[in-house]
Amino acid sequence: MSQQEPEIKVIMAKKKGLNTICTHTGEVEDTNYKGAVSPLYISTSYAYENVDIKRYPRYFNTPNQEGVCKKLAALEQTDDALIFGSGMAAISTSLLAFLRSGDHIVLQQSLYGGTYNLVAEFFDNYHISYSFTKGLTKENFESEIQENTKVIYIETPSNPLLAVTDIEMVVALAKKYNVVSVIDNTFASPVNQQPFILGIDVVLHSATKYLGGHSDILAGAVCANKEHIEKIFHVGKNLGGNLSDYTVWLLERSMKTLGIRVKAQNENAMLLANYLNEHKMVDHVYYPGLTTHPDHEIAKKQMKGFGGMLSFELNTDIDSVAFSEQLQLIKPSMSLAGVESTILSPAKTSHALLPEEERQKQGIVSNLLRLSAGIEDIEDLIADIEQAFKNTIK
Ligand SMILES: *Cc1c(COP(=O)(O)O)cnc(C)c1O
Repeated sequence: MSQQEPEIKVIMAKKKGLNTICTHTGEVEDTNYKGAVSPLYISTSYAYENVDIKRYPRYFNTPNQEGVCKKLAALEQTDDALIFGSGMAAISTSLLAFLRSGDHIVLQQSLYGGTYNLVAEFFDNYHISYSFTKGLTKENFESEIQENTKVIYIETPSNPLLAVTDIEMVVALAKKYNVVSVIDNTFASPVNQQPFILGIDVVLHSATKYLGGHSDILAGAVCANKEHIEKIFHVGKNLGGNLSDYTVWLLERSMKTLGIRVKAQNENAMLLANYLNEHKMVDHVYYPGLTTHPDHEIAKKQMKGFGGMLSFELNTDIDSVAFSEQLQLIKPSMSLAGVESTILSPAKTSHALLPEEERQKQGIVSNLLRLSAGIEDIEDLIADIEQAFKNTIK
């Protein structure tokens, strides 16, 4: 007798609209009670006789994991996906799936700090060599490629200055030199950018950010074709950076609103960028949606929306710490991409360990603030910033 397994519906597959996919793809059917949402399966122990799949959470094959991975794959338009206990678990596992002792990786300059540390602190131990590019042009990438290069790694838009890497340029180089192209797509989210469609091999996410979206989930994801996912799976099941099914379930719930959240965040970020751009207390605004952004044309080519992240430099008459403290609605906060707007000083947090001189060189000055636009009403966000300016200047 074969066990009746609950069906993981892919009822709204790739050809449906964004919000329909977000809401329905990967729902685990409630065969017993016909409830509206996926049941939560928390077992770490499943039957092995007369079943099609021998399930165990670390093998990425519990019903809830499979469901949310179908949703992710549909959003990035890849064959498959895997979810992890954090963005860094997804990143480290994926890189170790394509790199072995003696190999080399080219990474773009200005990456997420955790990724930089992973490479700079640990890869020597495994005799994996690496080069960081000196800029984001084709020449910058091509000149770092060696005989033994196996992976090109990018992150766009970048943190905190929202520089945009030309994805098609990187794809062409990866094809020319027969290496695996990997992108950290966290800042854009699949709503704004689908790199796999542009030819990137492996798409990574810190699901802690937009995919989770409520500042209460730590998770990571990787989306790719079957062959690449298979390789990552074999490393992942041994490294064991899996996500608890409780959190998997919460992630599926959160992703139902991904499309409408990110669109609201895009709109707020654009309006805030315009407002700040015209403000006399602001020296510079970094947002790919501004026509004055040096990478605006590349962003227009490869992004559907310009994202919810922006940075701005206050002029020297105003202290960024005092300004942040005056904000009532927008919270100074380490992370990003939640439904609530948050603000952060990169020089004091994410880039605090860099020497002052290096920070200056990269443009991460002490008066730079990074803003993660939430979904609040734009009038209230602008009023909050306006009153903070007034109360800081006095
Ligand atoms: C936060 C973040 C990560 C790391 O993700 P965790 O979930 O914190 O492990 C990686 N890349 C980017 C761009 C991030 O913002």
